[in-house]
Amino acid sequence: MQKNNPRKFDVVIVGAGVAGMYAVHRLRQMGLKVRAFEKGNDVGGTWYWNRYPGCRCDVESMEYSFSFDNDLQQEWHWPERYGTQPEILTYLKHVADRFDLRKDIEFGVSIKSAKFNSSDSLWTVGTEEGDIISAPYLIMATGNLSTPRKPNIPGIDGFRGAIYHTGLWPHEGVDFTGLRVGIIGTGSSGVQSIPIIASQAKQLFVFQRTANFSLPARNAPLDPAVETKHKAEYPERRRAAYDTPFGIAGYPPPTASALDVPEEERRQTYEQKWGQGGSISFLYSYNDLLLNDEANKTASDFVRDKIRSIVKDAKTAELLCPNDHPIGTKRLILDTNYYETYNLPHVKLVDIRSNPIREIVEDGIRTADAHYELDVIVFATGFDAMTGAMKEIDISTDKQQTIRHKWEYGPRSYLGIMMNGFPNLFMITGPQSPGVKSQMILSCEQHVDWIAQLLQYLEDKGLREAEPTRMAEDAWVDHNNEVANGTLYPKANSWYVGANIPGKPRVFMPYVGGVTAYKKKCDEVVAAGYEGITLK
Ligand code: NAP
Repeated sequence: MQKNNPRKFDVVIVGAGVAGMYAVHRLRQMGLKVRAFEKGNDVGGTWYWNRYPGCRCDVESMEYSFSFDNDLQQEWHWPERYGTQPEILTYLKHVADRFDLRKDIEFGVSIKSAKFNSSDSLWTVGTEEGDIISAPYLIMATGNLSTPRKPNIPGIDGFRGAIYHTGLWPHEGVDFTGLRVGIIGTGSSGVQSIPIIASQAKQLFVFQRTANFSLPARNAPLDPAVETKHKAEYPERRRAAYDTPFGIAGYPPPTASALDVPEEERRQTYEQKWGQGGSISFLYSYNDLLLNDEANKTASDFVRDKIRSIVKDAKTAELLCPNDHPIGTKRLILDTNYYETYNLPHVKLVDIRSNPIREIVEDGIRTADAHYELDVIVFATGFDAMTGAMKEIDISTDKQQTIRHKWEYGPRSYLGIMMNGFPNLFMITGPQSPGVKSQMILSCEQHVDWIAQLLQYLEDKGLREAEPTRMAEDAWVDHNNEVANGTLYPKANSWYVGANIPGKPRVFMPYVGGVTAYKKKCDEVVAAGYEGITLK
């Protein structure tokens, strides 16, 4: 529409989830003219789209919140230990109101393309609707788990009943009462929704390809004494979070190897952590659970035994016991009554590893050995994680660089924030940063602050462009791979390596050296005058 006369801003931000919201606030405070574009009709990102029953954050609510404004964190009250999706979305809408963020966000707009022109150092961004916007800086706050993917199962379009994806849940909700439901996928989304769907449905078939480890969340109303204490310690806890591997303070780091303690003592430790609920505390039992197979096996065996003790049918219990990856090498799931749900007479686990789904037919799902009649199919099949959202947009430069080509064999970045070949393009919690392996809001804030500081530096020095060197990027990618290969993580077929998307290159994408090491590196780059980044 305005091809010859694009609207001009200082910064274009794509996405108005946690990352985009804070970027709007932070950069606007610097006096920059900022505009964010969001596909959804309101703020919230992940918490806007993922409205499936049981959706809840697996980081405790006192941690999973913005730290940038002390009044905000002191005044907000979280009712439960873990926030539900509606509570978190209410919180994010409150933040949008309180800081008047919506006035610089356009909703219901999908970004289609972005092209950098080196002659005027400007990004030109195009929307699906044909609008054109330009700005010197482009920030992709597009999320890591924001492109839901349904597998391409033959016959899917011929199904007569309703089909849902957990990551694109209808706003009005779904009532499963009296229905025969099939759910495909047993990652976090499946595991959280299965007990709630089971409580409504006439019959529930869970189609499981791979069993995952899940621990009890032990969610409960937030103890007022815990809340008061946490709020009194907030500034210190937020600072201390940067000195931890996952960006979450309050858990003493483990010092002993799982193999250095007697078996009974180890069992008691796991038992105590299982009773407390939560994943960090469990993974913090010993310092080598993610490094040493034998150490990990002690924790994996403990959880497998728990599954066998909860699930009454021995065959179902065995199918639910994960045996293809060490515990913690896929995102550990937190649940409420997941394994218990399989003791209900109307819930059946279908092993599609040994009897794969052949097709979806008009009245259900046909596997290699059976036919399941269904009224509803729920896909809890996950996302094209970490690279999907970036690759969906046609990002290019006038020097014939494209992200799709650059990332053909897996993502490459400097610090998970910038890329060689793409000046003034920034990602918030991109691949090769600890984002998804950390308390996400902390990582979003850290990235936005780092980017803000760089933009201020450019402005102060009268410079126009920042672009990491090829050498710095290669070294960072190599370092990421080296760190990951020193752990057990690459052993799992997870979305961390793109294993859930057929044909996606197998590359370990998140930085697993921990938040402390990562933040130190980011700070060192700044202290050395933006080492590894060409400024001009
Ligand atoms: P996911 O972890 O990728 O799980 C997808 C599930 O679908 C897996 O069980 C997978 O089986 C199955 N699947 C995929 N394609 C399939 C196919 N063609 N046939 C049969 N099964 C198939 O996705 P998710 O559960 O949506 O979770 C993604 C991430 O989002 C989580 O790891 C977490 O980081 C985040 N999340 C967090 C929360 C929370 O905070 N509590 C909640 C939900 C999601 P295979 O393993 O065999 O591929």
